[in-house]
Amino acid sequence: MAFEGLAERLQETMSKIKGKGKVSEADVKTMAREVRLALLEADVNFKVVKQFVNRVKERAVGQEVMKSLTPGQQVIKVVNEELTDLMGREESKLEQAEKPPTVIMMVGLQGSGKTTTAAKLANYLRKEKNRNPMLVAADVYRPAAIDQLNTLGKQLNMPVYSQGTEANPVDIVREGVEQAKAENHDYVLLDTAGRLHVDETLMEELQGMKDAVQPDEVLLVVDAMTGQDAVNVAEHFNEQLSISGVVLTKLDGDTRGGAALSIRAVTEKPIKFAGMGEKIDQLETFHPERMASRILGMGDVLSLIEKAQTNVDEERAKELEKKMRNADISFDDFLEQLEQVKSMGPLEDILGMIPGAGKMKGLKNMQVDESQIGRVEAIVRSMTKAEKQDPKLMNASRKRRIAKGSGTTVQDVNKLLKQFEDMKKMMKQMSSMNGKKKGKGKGG
Ligand code: GDP
Repeated sequence: MAFEGLAERLQETMSKIKGKGKVSEADVKTMAREVRLALLEADVNFKVVKQFVNRVKERAVGQEVMKSLTPGQQVIKVVNEELTDLMGREESKLEQAEKPPTVIMMVGLQGSGKTTTAAKLANYLRKEKNRNPMLVAADVYRPAAIDQLNTLGKQLNMPVYSQGTEANPVDIVREGVEQAKAENHDYVLLDTAGRLHVDETLMEELQGMKDAVQPDEVLLVVDAMTGQDAVNVAEHFNEQLSISGVVLTKLDGDTRGGAALSIRAVTEKPIKFAGMGEKIDQLETFHPERMASRILGMGDVLSLIEKAQTNVDEERAKELEKKMRNADISFDDFLEQLEQVKSMGPLEDILGMIPGAGKMKGLKNMQVDESQIGRVEAIVRSMTKAEKQDPKLMNASRKRRIAKGSGTTVQDVNKLLKQFEDMKKMMKQMSSMNGKKKGKGKGG
């Protein structure tokens, strides 16, 4: 499978940073160095690597705060986003002509998989998009290419237009497109000739074909197994022919993946499809996001990030749950909970969701005054770090300072401290209750 080495190395790097509750600049530096090496080893273009690492470093140090993720997780989030960006962020769709047929010209070096991909794409268009495509065999230099396309056409029961190997490719594509129009095909796929290396005569000929039929898409087919070379080829074809997109083939092989990660950045043209095998249905639309998650692994953190974006944070919740069970929460945790609660909706509804809360003494007829929350928050925010962690430090002068800082009174501060202690007691009660329940439940 492609990307194996890269995935392994990146995952190792990420797992080192994953659990960190604090990420120092030195941590980021180490991480960046490891990411850099992993990418270079995967044969990613060095300029692309440099840009990538710089962006990750910049963002990881001055990272945007997301309350429900730990710093380590946030770094992974940054790397994941940058990796996705590198490959184009969003899935890129095929162009469609306003007036059919949509003409798609396949170009690329010999052996890259053009002929196979032309047939795969035709099959995809018919099966997935309900289209009625036609194939045109314009690779007149590789005699087997026309036979190959004819065979694939037969296999698919799909028309293939050809004029043999003696005709002029520009005439073939022009007349092929005419025929497609006459026969009401909505897509025409042109299989063109390739060479072993990029050469000027080939480029001129391809340019001539392009001028003749004005295709809606010029898709460059690139063999992902060729690594750095794939990037040079893509750059060249793009300069000469101004391609509209890329199909990466042989991603099922054990390519190091550098091509997939560099082509988009170097050509600024999207990767539209990926070839995942020799069989006709082994063509996939290319999803940068899915590919990035696959490379990074970290399924747990990545799905956590997704959830965090909708305000849920399981790991943190678990941590808090544990703290509550041991009744050792601090005002920091309290504040965090308060923030989450604020973003969740009316308090009474939330209390209603806690199993057994309705029966708890003290909670039973609890009236929640939402305006209180702001005051409580102000008080907690006026505490020093040490005070938040250990409310026992609180003496009269500290209380006065906090009251002044939060625009409340010492009574308010006292009241909150008392409530906080009560809450802890309640947690103890609840956890011992749960403990008993568990013990009882064991037998049944
Ligand atoms: P062309 O010269 O560019 O037309 O290349 P072909 O279509 O003849 O493909 C060259 C070889 O690559 C053939 O053996 C194909 O079966 C193989 N091939 C094409 N695409 C893929 C792919 O996505 N995965 C694998 N494993 N092989 C592929």
